[in-house]
Amino acid sequence: MIAAAKLEELLSDLIPIGLGEDGGTTRLAWTREDEEAAAWFARRAAAIGRTMERDPAGNLWAVPDTTGPWWAAGSHLDSVRAGGRFDGALGVAAAFAVAEHAPIAVISFADEEGARFNTPTFGSRALVGRLDVDDALDRVDDHGVTLADAMADAGVEPDGLRDAPQWLEKLRGFVELHIDQTRDVASGYSAAGVVTRLAARMRLQVDLAGRADHAGTTPREERHDALAAAARIIVRADSEAAQRLGLVFTTGRLEVEPNAPTTVPSRARMWLDARAPDPETVESWRDAVAAEAERVAEEAGVKLDLRIASWSPGTEFPEDVRTALRAGLPAPKQQIICYAGHDAGIVAGARPAGMVLVRNETGISHSPEEDVSLDDAAVGATTLLTALEQLA
Ligand SMILES: [Zn+2]
Repeated sequence: MIAAAKLEELLSDLIPIGLGEDGGTTRLAWTREDEEAAAWFARRAAAIGRTMERDPAGNLWAVPDTTGPWWAAGSHLDSVRAGGRFDGALGVAAAFAVAEHAPIAVISFADEEGARFNTPTFGSRALVGRLDVDDALDRVDDHGVTLADAMADAGVEPDGLRDAPQWLEKLRGFVELHIDQTRDVASGYSAAGVVTRLAARMRLQVDLAGRADHAGTTPREERHDALAAAARIIVRADSEAAQRLGLVFTTGRLEVEPNAPTTVPSRARMWLDARAPDPETVESWRDAVAAEAERVAEEAGVKLDLRIASWSPGTEFPEDVRTALRAGLPAPKQQIICYAGHDAGIVAGARPAGMVLVRNETGISHSPEEDVSLDDAAVGATTLLTALEQLA
């Protein structure tokens, strides 16, 4: 059994790192705060007689002996801007608590959020060899710093990034505990749930090219309004998503040119994000949206370019790992489909992996208001321990 007090003690000197006055946590990858979190990791490793090691992707490891490969538990220590205290941190703390009772490795994956360079699950993708290294290293943050320079500043040699997959040999399997970022676990009236699969997810990039014109003097039939077309496509993509297929749909970003109050917009670019439990639902949404978008573009007299910016058919966690995790879970042994991306989902492409989500009463995450009961988290951590005693 892992006690809530153990998790509280582990988190006591982690939560203050990067904690802002608004209660939000900001620990962006390769920053001073990220380094302080790594120092926390090293202290916690030392406390259980281990030495922190850094792999070529900057992932932090605390391994139990010199033999390996090991089963591992962990999560991430970076955050979004003004994010929650428990997102990632709770999973690493839980892994250290488990490691006091079982010979498993503890891992903190680098830059899971990708908040600084738009490189989500950077460390786990590098580990399994699914990172486009050249593209990643050239990315720049808001201050024009390249990821390569940021890594070097943090003491991780960027040229070594390609060697990260060599460390995969040390890993037999991986389990991750994470705070639920929905109310799904809470609505099932249990402290924690086992994730069956990560949802399929597609991001479409839609470009609309019209013609800039005077907002007052251009008659309706002579307009080629890119933004008006974009708005119609959003509405249709949303109704197709929410009403017919029941998937989760977001237009989170829209760029408009010239973006002037008195000019008919000449250009609009937007990203449409859709997620569903199974890939077929997302693909049929894409087909429907593409057909609707063509119709809208033709009516509006604008040029359409619609492409898939990213696509993941989702990840099914292997049955034996799910069974081991379920064994440690108190009734009603909830099984959850997770709509967010996680390192465990990336690792699952290369090694057996699984996930436990801990109840989040409000479902709020990536926010200072994110909160969790450490009693619930202790149930989740005990579930990991029970599973790892069987798997490792
Ligand atoms: Zn997270």
